[in-house]
Amino acid sequence: PEVVDQIAAGEVVERPAHLVKELVENSIDAGATRVHVEFFDGGRHVKVIDNGKGMAPEDLPKALERFATSKISQTDDLWKLKTFGFRGEALASIAAVSKLTLTSRRKDDEQAFQLISHYGKKSEIDKVGGSLGTTILIENLFENTPARLKFLKSDAAENSAIKNTLKAMALSHFDVEIRIQENGKLVHFWPATQSRKDRVEQILEIKPLFVGEAARENVRAYAVFADPHNVAKTAKNIWLFAQNRWIQDRSLQAAVNEAYRHLLMHGEYPIAVVWVETDTDAVDVNIHPTKSAVKFQTPSLAFRAVAGALRSTLELAPW
Ligand code: ADP
Ligand code: MG
Repeated sequence: PEVVDQIAAGEVVERPAHLVKELVENSIDAGATRVHVEFFDGGRHVKVIDNGKGMAPEDLPKALERFATSKISQTDDLWKLKTFGFRGEALASIAAVSKLTLTSRRKDDEQAFQLISHYGKKSEIDKVGGSLGTTILIENLFENTPARLKFLKSDAAENSAIKNTLKAMALSHFDVEIRIQENGKLVHFWPATQSRKDRVEQILEIKPLFVGEAARENVRAYAVFADPHNVAKTAKNIWLFAQNRWIQDRSLQAAVNEAYRHLLMHGEYPIAVVWVETDTDAVDVNIHPTKSAVKFQTPSLAFRAVAGALRSTLELAPW
């Protein structure tokens, strides 16, 4: 493969969790209502099966080419980011550093079509049996780039990063059924739900949960959270989303803590999931594939909306 592809791979897929995120985003972009993720050996082998719209046989090799995206028609669209994928480099980058098997079948196809790529070298397209949708199998990730392989953490750490990424994806797409197998064992099954609250209950496995929402000018926040008696020992149970993307954000994390001030003891952290939405042009979504940060035009509005969403409920209840 081209060196440029291997370099790109380092940016898009530093770790297996990033790869899983890219694949599942593609499934969701393709309209899948069911996504099944299997991973083995810390994510060095990954399979994602979806029931999305599938791909035409002639599009299979194209999908593995750099900057081959079916998701932007004009450069202008780049800034709208309606779908998650828009760069057209994820599959090409992953294909450059793994053995990738792409199998896909559309609604009107009588069978599925399959393409295999060995570290970027593509096979002919075969007709195979297969159900509606797309299956992508990644094997021997980074085997041709030992330096990168060396940077992976323990299998347990990579596995937990993968599961956290999938939790975040499930929290931002509650209408998609997600099934997860780790080393051949079913570890999570989250059926599609109608509400954020149900999804949080499925994923965080806690009850009771409370909801709140607030708006400050053009920024709206929705929160689902545990009561102050149900606390965590770290801030890891504060999940933040902006424009439905999972973000890490110190300021909004502080907003959550602020809402619980006086309700928690020292060393206690809230359990809360918060989604923040605003106008497309009022937030800068960082377009680096692995950075999960955004920049709000007016950060103080986002802070107040988040604190307000939690407080609206926290202040009413007699804790
Ligand atoms: P992007 O998502 O940025 O367009 P990717 O490299 O992730 O780029 O994918 C390349 C293309 O392959 C997509 O634009 C899409 O047309 C196709 N594709 C990838 N995954 C799927 C899938 N699960 N179902 C249908 N089409 C897919
Ligand atoms: Mg993509």
